Amino acid sequence: MSIFLTTVPVEEAIRVVRDISPPPDEELVPLESAYNRILLRDITADIDIPGFTRSVVDGYAVHSADTTGAGEAIPVILRLTGRAAMGASVKQPPLPPGSCIYVPTGGEIPDGADAMAMIEYCEMLGDEVLVKRPLAAGENIIFKGEDFRAGERVLERGRRLSPGDIGVLAATGHSMVPVSAAPNVGIISTGNELVPVNEVPTGSRVRDVNTYLCRSFLEQYGARPIQFGIVRDDPESFETALDNALATCDAVLISGGSSKDDRDLTAGMIQSRGEVFVHGISLAPGKPTIIGQANGKPVIGLPGHPASTFIVLLVIARHMILGMTGNTSDSPVVVRGVLSENIPSARGREEYVRVKITGKGIVPLFGKSGLLNTLVKSNGVIRIPAGSEGIETGTEVEVILW
Ligand code: AMP
Ligand code: MG
Repeated sequence: MSIFLTTVPVEEAIRVVRDISPPPDEELVPLESAYNRILLRDITADIDIPGFTRSVVDGYAVHSADTTGAGEAIPVILRLTGRAAMGASVKQPPLPPGSCIYVPTGGEIPDGADAMAMIEYCEMLGDEVLVKRPLAAGENIIFKGEDFRAGERVLERGRRLSPGDIGVLAATGHSMVPVSAAPNVGIISTGNELVPVNEVPTGSRVRDVNTYLCRSFLEQYGARPIQFGIVRDDPESFETALDNALATCDAVLISGGSSKDDRDLTAGMIQSRGEVFVHGISLAPGKPTIIGQANGKPVIGLPGHPASTFIVLLVIARHMILGMTGNTSDSPVVVRGVLSENIPSARGREEYVRVKITGKGIVPLFGKSGLLNTLVKSNGVIRIPAGSEGIETGTEVEVILW
């Protein structure tokens, strides 16, 4: 039976993973392709945004002081002296007191004017406009540079670019965007019992789940998965696959064979090409995890049970990908709720319990680590710290969403 005399706490395992993960290479991509990539440099505004003081409504640019006391019954009468043309390249002349000009939404406010009277509260009479509400200075306008000032930092490096970020990049003139190049991460699935997905397993064989689990996880975090297939538990085929992966990838994930049994090959394979730093983490599920370096590249040995593999990807391997992509902003999405059942836990290991969010609260799904069904029945996991003996019914808990 496998023995883990020394397991390291989760935080230490994460520190080791962080230390051995190389920083990303930079790539300049067209703005069109930048969505969801990780920004590698701080971005500053090249110009004031907006570049001119503009209206946020359709209506009349006025001197706010002219509208003091205006009401439905006693409107203020202003002389209409012109219209602002959208996109005009020359500035309007200054607005004399007692007059107004028509400005559509987004149009430029002339000097002197300091508020916009919405068209809904005005009436036109020939070349005069009746304003029926008083306006405060600055009402319904955005000042030049109010959104961003020229030279101001608008986006910080390390963030995953959202549609809103892409809009800001467009406004600030960045047609090419410095992002991290996706690291190539090899995936090797080991096990004599594994068959490809398109085969029906016979006897005690099972389909290779982890290749695809790892693959989609890598894609979710912006790494490029490269599959090295199923490898039998014999040193030659293992070595061939690992050496191929190390030759072409920036990091490698190996599923299976990560325990401490004599038949488990992963640790020895890494050791002979570098160093094993961690073999066994105080994590449940996910104890038989290996963190090492082979030919100078990070290699993580994942437990074979798919549900354990998934937790190790989330809790440990995620940090490798965050490091290798320069991502400093993605943190798991959490929601809060009240626990509907006691969760017992052994002290000394950090435990992740899959849960379902229901109308009656947060319901733990106590699955054996080999079971896949809880992965799809659950919405996420609750983390129980290593020092805790569990969580009682009625406690407010945080669910890390899948
Ligand atoms: P191991 O750590 O190699 O002993 O694997 C532990 C358990 O996980 C065994 O029951 C394996 O059959 C299962 N397992 C290992 N690799 C995979 C995989 N790629 N897909 C599905 N199950 C796996
Ligand atoms: Mg195995």
